Amino acid sequence: MIRIDISRPPLPAFPIEGGCHCGAVRYRVIAPPKCVNACHCTDCQRLTGSSHGLFLHVPAVDMERLSGSYDVFRRTGGSGNRINIERCTECGSRMWHLPEASPELVILCAGTLDDASWAVATSHIFVEEAIAGATAASDALVVESFNSTRPALWQRFTDIYGS
Ligand SMILES: [Zn+2]
Ligand SMILES: [Zn+2]
Repeated sequence: MIRIDISRPPLPAFPIEGGCHCGAVRYRVIAPPKCVNACHCTDCQRLTGSSHGLFLHVPAVDMERLSGSYDVFRRTGGSGNRINIERCTECGSRMWHLPEASPELVILCAGTLDDASWAVATSHIFVEEAIAGATAASDALVVESFNSTRPALWQRFTDIYGS
């Protein structure tokens, strides 16, 4: 993991919105997330077809589903937890992961935001599986596997942006 010094963009004004590739699924997030987390596990590499997954941890109460319908895929995450992945039924865009053990939380795929330009990861997990050349901001939490609990990821976000 290569550390880079960047100046983070400020958080956007909430609410913010996003949607799938075809536009059938639209959603709104009404308050800042609990963290911006990059997962470098090989499952996320396959699911994204890319180097890592980038997610916002959003309290379910702050998530408004505006339109669209979903196909649900069940998987077991690297942490051993069962997760439901919801994709747009029309275009297949992966929208979010719903951990069965944490129904109060939506793990939102950050790339579906209308503007994700501010979403610089505040934490990185499973970095031992990261592709060569992967980068992390110098102020981000970087951990192997999922040794860090979610509250530790959330604490780093608060440390960076303030509460
Ligand atoms: Zn769609
Ligand atoms: Zn992952």
